[in-house]
Amino acid sequence: MRSDLYIDGSWQGAADGATLAVVDPATEEIFHRVAAGGPADVDRAVDAARAAFEGGWGRTSGRERAKYLRAIAAAIAARRETLATLEVRDNGKPLAEALWDIDDAAGCFAYYADLAEELDGRQDEVVALPDARFSCIVRREPVGVSGQIIPWNYPLLMAAWKIAPALAAGATSILKPSELTPVTALELAGIAHEVDLPRGVLNVVTGTGVAGAALSSHPGVDKLAFTGSIATGAKVMAAAARDIKAVSLELGGKSPFLVFDDADVEKAVEWIMFGIFWNQGQVCSATSRLLVQDGIADSLLTRLAREAARIPIGNGRDAETLLGPLVSEGQHRKVAAYLAEADREKLTLLTGGRRPPHLDKGYFLEPTIYVDVPERSRLWREEIFGPVLCVRRFSEEEEAVRLANNSPFGLAAAVMSADDDRCRRVSRALRAGIVWVNCSQPTFTQAPWGGYKQSGIGRELGPWGLENYLETKQVTRLESSEPWGWYLK
Ligand code: NAD
Repeated sequence: MRSDLYIDGSWQGAADGATLAVVDPATEEIFHRVAAGGPADVDRAVDAARAAFEGGWGRTSGRERAKYLRAIAAAIAARRETLATLEVRDNGKPLAEALWDIDDAAGCFAYYADLAEELDGRQDEVVALPDARFSCIVRREPVGVSGQIIPWNYPLLMAAWKIAPALAAGATSILKPSELTPVTALELAGIAHEVDLPRGVLNVVTGTGVAGAALSSHPGVDKLAFTGSIATGAKVMAAAARDIKAVSLELGGKSPFLVFDDADVEKAVEWIMFGIFWNQGQVCSATSRLLVQDGIADSLLTRLAREAARIPIGNGRDAETLLGPLVSEGQHRKVAAYLAEADREKLTLLTGGRRPPHLDKGYFLEPTIYVDVPERSRLWREEIFGPVLCVRRFSEEEEAVRLANNSPFGLAAAVMSADDDRCRRVSRALRAGIVWVNCSQPTFTQAPWGGYKQSGIGRELGPWGLENYLETKQVTRLESSEPWGWYLK
């Protein structure tokens, strides 16, 4: 495991020698330490990224960049088991989920390799002008130096979602992973080094919010991409406003899942559980508010309670585990505080609500479901980011859509019904950037990712993700030999 910062193609400790403990959330043991970068390290990383951008990376062809992206994809794929095991240790997620993340991360680099090549073919696009004396072409150029600040729930995958399009566009990067899960970001730096990515193109500065704040307020950064909580996103945006940096924000959610009477109970239970218990519910797009129509509610909730209580909970390394620990003591405390709040609000608990009795170490919590949760409840309104589902019943479609949209968030939503017309109508009415029909959570690198309202600004993935790192330049040329004749008549 690597422990130093990766700046300008070399490994170095933090300027002030500070380090961070890395904790296994299943055992509560410190298993590693990494450098805790600060403002001086961010300065060095930004200087290196600027020098690399101006020294040539910004002028490389998409074809050249695609070679590096494909080499990174292949190197990630070649060590998928090692990377997945590190992810389990660092984050706690079940191994099968971690393997999936690593495959997706490799796929993301391969996908943006293709887009980098296509970008070459999209240069010098002609714009038709209404004045024959002029011609115009459009060039797509890299944004410059980009800073990426990411959370802990999908450590390597969140890095891939940002670094792959940045490098594809010809930008250089400074990546600041979460202080809770820094391990695989450093492995990514190791891979970049191994494939001879030119020095300074990718820099990884591990550290706390202090390093994140230094990066977001750094005048040498042209573009900031942030994924995390709304509170931190607002700080990043405010810091970026000082020198008008481009910003994209992927923030939180409280996504609704609408299940209608004509849905199949078996399928509904499967996707509801996947939507809230996958990754211990620590998913920005988790469908954490279930709206279930009266006619199906009793049978669905009975089955849901039975299945949720049977989910195997344990160390993510154990093959049968489907629910691991929450990522940290702090996150465990935060989610437990919501369970205490539910007691105070006298919510009706359907299942769960405690630490699993057979696990006395580790940040574990049972899959938890509350029913008939009032709209005013904090549990209904706020992002809990844990394995906690809040349920309400509804009778009419209109009421369900109103309840679904009554939220400051707008990241995702899901609808399940056998009636295609209804699914189409509801998916149009939902105010969210991602709508799943008859499922919840499947995510593809090709499709746009991001939210309405306070869930963020901009979109990642697909060609939208590449756009985040491109500037648009028009080159307008006088073609006519006639004098312009404005001053010199
Ligand atoms: P967080 O906001 O606490 O931290 C995110 C990152 O910001 C970390 O790297 C942290 O060190 C850094 N940071 C902290 N203070 C900073 C500051 N003042 N300036 C700059 N950076 C700073 O979020 P988290 O707890 O790591 O992640 C959970 C949140 O992320 C949830 O709200 C979740 O919904 C959201 N999330 C959103 C998406 C999405 O795609 N929309 C994906 C994953 C997670």
